[in-house]
Amino acid sequence: MPIRNRFAELHDEITAWRRDIHQNPEILYETHRTSALVADKLKEFGCDEVVTGIGRTGVVGVIRGRSTGSGKVIGLRADMDALPIHEATGVEYASKTPGAMHACGHDGHTAMLLGAARYLAETRNFDGTAVVIFQPAEEGGGGGKEMCDDGLMERFGIQEVYGMHNWPGKPVGSFAIRPGSFFAATDQFDIDVTGRGGHAAKPHETVDPTVMTAHLVTMLQTIASRNADPVDQVVVSVTSFQTSSNAFNVIPASVHLKGTVRTMSTGMRDLAERRIRELCEHVAAGFGGKAEVTYHRGYPVMVNHEDQTDFAADVARRIAGDCGEAPLVMGGEDFAFMLEERPGAYILVGNGDTAMVHNPEYNFNDEAIPAGCSWWAGIVEERMPG
Ligand SMILES: [Zn+2]
Ligand SMILES: [Zn+2]
Repeated sequence: MPIRNRFAELHDEITAWRRDIHQNPEILYETHRTSALVADKLKEFGCDEVVTGIGRTGVVGVIRGRSTGSGKVIGLRADMDALPIHEATGVEYASKTPGAMHACGHDGHTAMLLGAARYLAETRNFDGTAVVIFQPAEEGGGGGKEMCDDGLMERFGIQEVYGMHNWPGKPVGSFAIRPGSFFAATDQFDIDVTGRGGHAAKPHETVDPTVMTAHLVTMLQTIASRNADPVDQVVVSVTSFQTSSNAFNVIPASVHLKGTVRTMSTGMRDLAERRIRELCEHVAAGFGGKAEVTYHRGYPVMVNHEDQTDFAADVARRIAGDCGEAPLVMGGEDFAFMLEERPGAYILVGNGDTAMVHNPEYNFNDEAIPAGCSWWAGIVEERMPG
């Protein structure tokens, strides 16, 4: 089954929605305009239920099939939020909000899921219930978790969930997926290193936290090179190093470090946190200072479930003729929280030869719309045949 014809007919209209959302980007939970637009469209399409305010600005639409005897309920999820980036695409529908931009293509995800909702509400050619989920705050705010915490899965009886992300560098409209761990757990750390400041010409009278922290930064590299099994993935990056002095002749009293840890398994995540704490304690003690670690666990590893991944790949193959093997991604994805609650799968749809996501020159490729919409529709129609 190639692209569903209806999506070829709707392509221009869905593109117009996408560009409208692109022009009006909203960050984190501030997706008020976007959420209202989504809710209005879902009502206009004739969804059986439209519920707002789940996970603050999240929106859910319920579409019942021609019959619901199968008792099956499938959730389809798109994200709606933009990034704090100043757009540099130069397109005529560029962001009207300085410093905010749809640089991850969530405008495209939202428009494609709206397109699928319209089609599913028109045709109802399935036996079961489709629940379309529009979440805010994917970019670091944990909107997916907030929706789950608001009882998303239980309230709508969702049994399986599916998600999609556009992917620059893959042919437009092509698909790629992988079972198991897919996107990384994304943690952050703050480390407060304290010594004793003093005159820069009298280091022997101080406990220099700069030298201590320089050693610590180097030691942190040994988590990946010496502690981790070489076949597993772990990234430990120190991204900020600030001393409490900005004078050239004062040894500071303290240093603040920030950084991120990316892992692909709970075991590796635990190992990285434990080693950061041990290294901080012992390296600082070795210099006569102190290092206090605050470790913030962010998004968990996003794990695709085997059976749903096979099914999602089959649906993709029937649309595009093929479904590639996706690479491991060391970025995070808060669909991970939904996949912790219900079995499901997350797929990549090619965005063609564009700038990478999170780049000011990135733009969602509207040519991916028919393939993306067809995949959503296929998930519902083929998992719950009417
Ligand atoms: Zn992103
Ligand atoms: Zn994204």
